[in-house]
Amino acid sequence: MKQRTIRNTIRIEGVGLQTGNKVSLILKSSPENSGISFIRTDLAEKPLLNLRSIEFGAGGTAERRTTVGLGPMQIQTTEHLLAALAGIGIDNIVIEMNNVELPGLDGSAKGFLNSIKKAGIAEQNEEKKFLDLKSPLWCSSGDSFLAIFPDECFSVTYMLSYPGIGTHLFNAMIDEKYFEKEIAPARTFCSQAEAMELLKRGLGKGANYDNTLVMGPNGPINNTLRFTDEPLRHKVLDLMGDLYLAGRPVKGRVIAVKSGHKLNMELVGKLRSQKISR
Ligand SMILES: [Zn+2]
Repeated sequence: MKQRTIRNTIRIEGVGLQTGNKVSLILKSSPENSGISFIRTDLAEKPLLNLRSIEFGAGGTAERRTTVGLGPMQIQTTEHLLAALAGIGIDNIVIEMNNVELPGLDGSAKGFLNSIKKAGIAEQNEEKKFLDLKSPLWCSSGDSFLAIFPDECFSVTYMLSYPGIGTHLFNAMIDEKYFEKEIAPARTFCSQAEAMELLKRGLGKGANYDNTLVMGPNGPINNTLRFTDEPLRHKVLDLMGDLYLAGRPVKGRVIAVKSGHKLNMELVGKLRSQKISR
């Protein structure tokens, strides 16, 4: 399997789900073994953050989204774009952005995936390098648990248990086709109480009933589900996006119970501390 980048430069415009800030992205191809880089074109000297070299800011993953970077060089809500890149197997890409948060689009990874497909996928000469998982890794916090076991493909077992949604179980091997059809369109969600709480704290400024499933007692408010278990699938989407912060694709069997960004990032830390390349 060869490394991949995109064929043509493409622009994506939108609004950050949490900050409500307008943002333009320019996605550009990148050479073999260069990995995924973000450039903040709105900051002086246009700093670059490469996922294989960064140290993550402590506590930056709270508040319902994943944030990477240190000090003012931050990238917020990385998970949906990174899920699209992981799902479609893009190894090398440069993402220029002119604000702090990636656009929310429709709340899923579908918009990113469609743009990348439109730009075209280019196979490169060098072989894809997976993160070498030598032994199981796991972490837990309260009643949440997350583990990854070495395997020849990538699969996820996820148990969601959420107030107002109930308990649901996901279990599947995830390849490119499966991701595109079954995971990428799943939108972000929250409960009514959480929506109020987020707004009170000055977050969720770019969220609305279309790009966020606000789960009421009779299902999503002013919206219809794309899958009966859409919130569950979105948790798998977030998990895939967060795991891609390990800097390389990983093969393994993931088992998750009520895992969110914070626990996902803890596992990423453990993955990153294993020495890379295979
Ligand atoms: Zn999400």
